[in-house]
Amino acid sequence: MGLTRRAVGAGALDTGLALRRRDENDLVIALAGNPNVGKSTVFNALTGMHQHTGNWPGKTVATAQGYHNDGEGGLLLVDIPGTYSLLAHSAEEEVARNFICFGEPDAVAVVCDAACLVRNLNLVLQVLEITPRVVVCVNLLDEAKRRGIRVDLVALSHALGVPVIGTVARKKKSLSALPRALRAVVERTRKPLCVQYGTVLETAIARVCDAFSGKELRRLPPRWLALRLLEADPRLLAEIEAYVGAELLADPALVQALDASRTALAAAGLAGDALRDHIVCAINEKAAELGALAVRAESPDRGMERADRWLTGRRSAYPFMLLLLALVFWLTVVGANYPSQWLSYAFNMLGARLDVWFSALGMPAFLHGILLDGIYRVLAAVVSVMLPPMAIFFPLFTFLEDVGYLPRIAYNLDRPFCRCHACGKQALTMCMGFGCNAAGVVGCRIIDSPRERLLAILTNAFVPCNGRFPTLIVVLTLFFVGVGTGLVSSLLAALLLLAVILLGVVATFGATRLLAATVLRGAPSSFTLELPPYRRPQVGKILVRSVFDRTLFVLGRAAAVAAPAGAIIWLLANTAVGGESLLLHVSGALDPIGRFLGLDGVILLGFVLGFPANEIVLPIILMTYAAGGTLPVLGGTAEIGSVLLANGWTPLTAVCFILFSLMHWPCSTTVLTVHRETRSLRWTVLAVFLPTLLGVLSCACVACVARLFF
Ligand code: GDP
Repeated sequence: MGLTRRAVGAGALDTGLALRRRDENDLVIALAGNPNVGKSTVFNALTGMHQHTGNWPGKTVATAQGYHNDGEGGLLLVDIPGTYSLLAHSAEEEVARNFICFGEPDAVAVVCDAACLVRNLNLVLQVLEITPRVVVCVNLLDEAKRRGIRVDLVALSHALGVPVIGTVARKKKSLSALPRALRAVVERTRKPLCVQYGTVLETAIARVCDAFSGKELRRLPPRWLALRLLEADPRLLAEIEAYVGAELLADPALVQALDASRTALAAAGLAGDALRDHIVCAINEKAAELGALAVRAESPDRGMERADRWLTGRRSAYPFMLLLLALVFWLTVVGANYPSQWLSYAFNMLGARLDVWFSALGMPAFLHGILLDGIYRVLAAVVSVMLPPMAIFFPLFTFLEDVGYLPRIAYNLDRPFCRCHACGKQALTMCMGFGCNAAGVVGCRIIDSPRERLLAILTNAFVPCNGRFPTLIVVLTLFFVGVGTGLVSSLLAALLLLAVILLGVVATFGATRLLAATVLRGAPSSFTLELPPYRRPQVGKILVRSVFDRTLFVLGRAAAVAAPAGAIIWLLANTAVGGESLLLHVSGALDPIGRFLGLDGVILLGFVLGFPANEIVLPIILMTYAAGGTLPVLGGTAEIGSVLLANGWTPLTAVCFILFSLMHWPCSTTVLTVHRETRSLRWTVLAVFLPTLLGVLSCACVACVARLFF
């Protein structure tokens, strides 16, 4: 990820984030911490915002900011991506490191997981090398207690030389001491604990620090800067140079001190990677020492290991995954049926009322048509078809996320992804794609290797997003299950949906392997994906988050697109050229291509006009079939079926529709996101071209074979 340099505040450089202080006295607080320790939960509790939280490492991939007023003034909290270390490896770790090092926060709150404190203390020690204005927030105390782990906060604070606060971030009250401690620490000058690196390196550091005397280092501590200059990581050096200026680094006295120090270090076997290892080891040892001082583990909890033996075991992992997925789809199918019908009924009633009111108002026919038959009916169809499945699927998905099951899926799918020369973390981005492909593409930032990140970005659209889900359910039910409410039919619909999703997953593997064998060649990188502990989900939070952050967000976006689309289609349907509407002209022109693909011109037009959002494909198709571009009054799935059958749909049309739905160009939001993430027109074009090509090929093959045999 590139970094934009922009001046903010008092000449500070930032990492692409313009800080939005409300008052010049507002304090800027960085919320740092390992992934999945509750940073976003702390952030949300203090700011009242809704940053994405979930039980898996790596979901915060960009920086967010929010405001907290503690009665004495404002704190501008900046939630940065989780990082295990400031010796950054991945794009999101660089974002975190750069904000702490060069973003000039007034104080840093390092959120730690009480249940694995030693690893978290590594980061604490690294942050303390940059600033003494640190508050350590030992979070997840409840979980640690359940696992028989106790933390002596006082001893830890004493040893670190900074305030340490124990919290349970899910309980807002437990955070009350944090803002106060942060405010108090801003004025702090007392030196905190400092890791010692042995005589040779300490002498080298001291020599470089001497060369800094009288130089302007801005906010960087000399000791930290000396260490980084000795390490000479090129990317970090570039950041440092941009921050302190090239002149400082070119200073002859400094260059000489660095040369002499590097020679001495090399003579002691501390050059290059060996130096880095030496530094990391010293920090690890100190963290372990602190852990021994402050952490008491009483009775280790073996329940998690037992659960993981089942959920990630060789034989049981895949059957369990499939069963779980089938269950989620079944609940979605069964649960969506009735509300969908009720919504259609309610919208039809309201539509009839509006019709009467518009006529009574003497509204011109054109306005009446475009408002009611165009905008209203498409909006009503989008909401009644989309809302119920989303309102059920999203909470179920969020539940799995909160419990901690998503990273287990990534773990289980690591092997097939490795065979495709990709990275197992791609499975996590695929899961995010189920909700929204654009979110899945952004989520690819969790993948460190640029090649593997591109593989994940280019293939994300193969998993059907929530915009495509409901349409798939409707078509599957109509043509392969039959409209009914019995247990058997709903189970069959869920299994068929599962098969379609698996087809999407297979297509993802195929496309990934194809890319890895052609334009994105390379060996798979090794990666560590931490399996987070299983956590008790918070039902209330899940509902709020999935309904407001996901369901209403996706629905709002779909509705915003559906309204103008409805108006445009109505206009096209009611503007005649040569005795025929424009809509029929266009769909007629597309008809030969559509028929070749086992579809028809109207369906193809639906996909083309549905480019802004997949949710509107089916309403557009229905509206185009209806004479005059008016959506027929639909009472539910059965009525949709009769419209499709009346317009020549067969099981072959349904199969090709499903295939094309699974594999065609991504929606406009996803395409824009791919461009933003890759910053390349070439990769964006490929992201559009690849699924489209595979969709066209598979539809054409299926249509040809079906015509040969039937
Ligand atoms: P982040 O990756 O550090 O931003 O972590 P999140 O804020 O997304 O939290 C990760 C998971 O831990 C979520 O499921 C939270 O609900 C959960 N969580 C956060 N703090 C606590 C806590 O103090 N106790 C418990 N039991 N769960 C917590």
